[in-house]
Amino acid sequence: MMDRNQFLFERAQAVIPGGVNSPVRAFRAVGGTPRFVARAQGAYFWDANGKQYVDYIGSWGPMILGHGHPKVVEAVQRAVLEGFSFGAPTEREIELAEAIIKLLPSIEQVRLVSSGTEAGMSAIRLARGFTGRSLMVKFEGCYHGHADALLVKAGSGLATFGHPTSAGVPAEVAQHTLVLPYNDVEALEAAFQTHGDQLATVIIEPIAGNMNFVRASVPFMKRLRELCTQYGALLILDEVMTGFRVGLSCAQGLYAQAIPGFAPDLTVLGKVIGGGMPLAAFGGRRDVMAKLAPLGGVYQAGTLSGNPVATACGLATLQEISQPGFFESLSAKTRSLVQGLKAVADRRGVPFSIDSEGGMFGFFLLPQLPQNYQEVMKTDGPAFNRFFHAMLDQGVYFAPALYEAGFVSAAHTDADIAATLAAAEQAWA
Ligand code: PLP
Repeated sequence: MMDRNQFLFERAQAVIPGGVNSPVRAFRAVGGTPRFVARAQGAYFWDANGKQYVDYIGSWGPMILGHGHPKVVEAVQRAVLEGFSFGAPTEREIELAEAIIKLLPSIEQVRLVSSGTEAGMSAIRLARGFTGRSLMVKFEGCYHGHADALLVKAGSGLATFGHPTSAGVPAEVAQHTLVLPYNDVEALEAAFQTHGDQLATVIIEPIAGNMNFVRASVPFMKRLRELCTQYGALLILDEVMTGFRVGLSCAQGLYAQAIPGFAPDLTVLGKVIGGGMPLAAFGGRRDVMAKLAPLGGVYQAGTLSGNPVATACGLATLQEISQPGFFESLSAKTRSLVQGLKAVADRRGVPFSIDSEGGMFGFFLLPQLPQNYQEVMKTDGPAFNRFFHAMLDQGVYFAPALYEAGFVSAAHTDADIAATLAAAEQAWA
């Protein structure tokens, strides 16, 4: 039989660079042919050959209810009939802003945009405009979208300025970004000591989902908050991935339980708040948000911002995940996958560690959970690739790279998880 995925991939490569509209979809890290998705429903999608997969990516996080949830579909259909886009304000934008603010006490005002990249980039511009400073800190292994200032890797040595990780990013831009190791309190203190007075902001993924799944330790987050306050730098939590995915109060809610009074100055959201439509947001302290145009001098805008179909999708999604018991049930499901995989790995003698929070998980072919990017990269790449393909062949779709997190949705059933564990038994046989 003709492999229609391969056929489409070849056709795509003629007209789209690398055949994909976002690089990780190309399977470069794991090799092989990307699966072209024909349709999806619940916890599954079907590829161009008609093969069914249990989907543990869920569009890289947004599909927390599974694909095609009837209430979300209905809300979107209703919105479509009212119009696609107006470029003028709508009541639904207020409803979504109110829903976000109700769930996240650190957000007093919020602005809607269309992608996580846009939200992160705008939040950083706002932090710079508010503080009148230029420098920012990011952490190695964290991803905040593909804005120029964020495509930066660490310079050599502590507290030196970064170098571009992408062609096309001027060195002058990268030089305003300081890249530090994640979970390293000493490096953080040294950076603040040297540059604290010039720092506009520190941006961090509280649970780093772009180096698979690495939690910021509580002492690290606590010290980060203290230093930002002491030096007048704004703390931005990038919750594009963790927001309404690890819990209804997001990752910041978890840290607030462990660190009394903990709150970021700004939060960046995306993925789940759009329920699969292009929608993201940034928000936080009212005095900071007041610097945004049209009130203040920090410019930010968007033709499709607060799109009426996307806001309908996001609102319906937030409504469903706010139902009592939603996250208890999702967390229990994710835990059963996580504990099951660990048990299979142990039986098969595979070095394995795994962690989860809410509907987000990450596994490593390492005996212990890593604490930073350097440790994540000690994973045996070829062993990961073999496991990935063995699972894919059996109809289980994990992320096609070892530095990506995984996602469980409310639509995953016990039977899906049992089938996944049986596939892992085979993969490691
Ligand atoms: N921030 C984080 C933590 C992300 O995981 C991502 C995307 O994966 C982004 C920002 C960028 O979001 P988008 O892909 O919507 O531009």
